[in-house]
Amino acid sequence: MRTIPRACLSFDLDTAADHLQGYGHGESTPSKDDPVYARALPRILESLASHQLRATFFVIARDAEAQARHLREIVQRGHEVASHSFQHQLPFSARPASEIELELRRSKETLEEVIGKKVVGFRAPGWDLDPATLDIVRRVGFQYDASIFPGPFLPLLRFATWWKGARRREHLRMTTWRWLAAPRRFHIRSVGGSNIVEFPLTLAPISGFPLYRTMAAYIGDARLARLVRWSRRFGRELSFPAHGVDFLDVDEDELDPRLRVHPGLGEALAARSARWELWLEEIRDLYRFAPFAELARELRSKSEVTREDSTRSPSD
Ligand SMILES: [Zn+2]
Repeated sequence: MRTIPRACLSFDLDTAADHLQGYGHGESTPSKDDPVYARALPRILESLASHQLRATFFVIARDAEAQARHLREIVQRGHEVASHSFQHQLPFSARPASEIELELRRSKETLEEVIGKKVVGFRAPGWDLDPATLDIVRRVGFQYDASIFPGPFLPLLRFATWWKGARRREHLRMTTWRWLAAPRRFHIRSVGGSNIVEFPLTLAPISGFPLYRTMAAYIGDARLARLVRWSRRFGRELSFPAHGVDFLDVDEDELDPRLRVHPGLGEALAARSARWELWLEEIRDLYRFAPFAELARELRSKSEVTREDSTRSPSD
C-alpha cells in the first residue's frame, strides 16, 4: 500500500505594518485592529473549515494579548499556534545571541499563557535563520523549526523585496546562500548534541522551485498547482507556507497603498481567493494534512532520522 505523504499548510500572521517594515517602510508595531487578524484570519479559518483542513499559524507573540480572542479561536478549531518570534525584528539572525534567546523565550511563554497550551514550533522572521540561531531554538525548548528555505530562490526573493521597497541596506544582509544545499525532506537535525525536527519549505523536484503561496504571484496559480502535483507524484511531503496578508484586498480592506507591491496584492482578492479554493479542493485528498506539531511528534516517534549533513535523502 502506498502511503499518503504528510503535509502542512502554514500561515505567518505578520501584521500589515510588519510587511511594510519588510519593505523598509516604518517600524512594525502591534495594532489591535490590524486587518490581518480582523479580516484575513476569519477568511483563512473559514476556508480551512470548508475543506476540513487543519493548519499551523505562526504568530508574532507581541500581538498575542491584543489578539487573544483570535488565537484561542485558532486553537479551538483544531489548528496550531506556533512562534514567529516576539517582535519580528529584521534582520533576525544578525542580532546578539542573548537577544535572540530572550526573544524566543518571551515568545514561547507569552503564547503559552494566552492559549493555555504548549507551543512547540518556531519560524524565523524573514526566514532568517543560521545554525547558531537554530541551536537557540532547540535550547529554548522548541521541538521543531520551520524556517529553512533551501535552494537559490530565497536570496532572489529577498533582493526583489529590497528592490521594490525603501532599499534599506541592512535588509540586504539577510541575503544568504547558506541553505542552498540543505536537506529538502522533513528531517531530524542534530544540533548542539540534541535533536530538533526541521520542516524545510518544499521545493519542486528537479526545478527546485519553491512551493510557496507568494510564488503564485510570479508564475500564476495554475503553474504553481502543477508543480505541487508534480512534487506529489514523486511522493514528496509538502510544507506550503502562506501569509495572512495574502488574504487581504488593498482597496476593500483599506491597506496602505504601498503594500500593492507585495506579490499578489496588485490583484483583487476575489479572483485570488477563487483560485485558492479550487486548489485546496484539488489537493486536500492528495496529502495527509496536519499541523506541524503533530507531524513532528510522528517523526520523533518513528525516529525518521535524516542526518543534517546529508544534502539528499534516498528519494531525492
Ligand atoms: Zn514574518
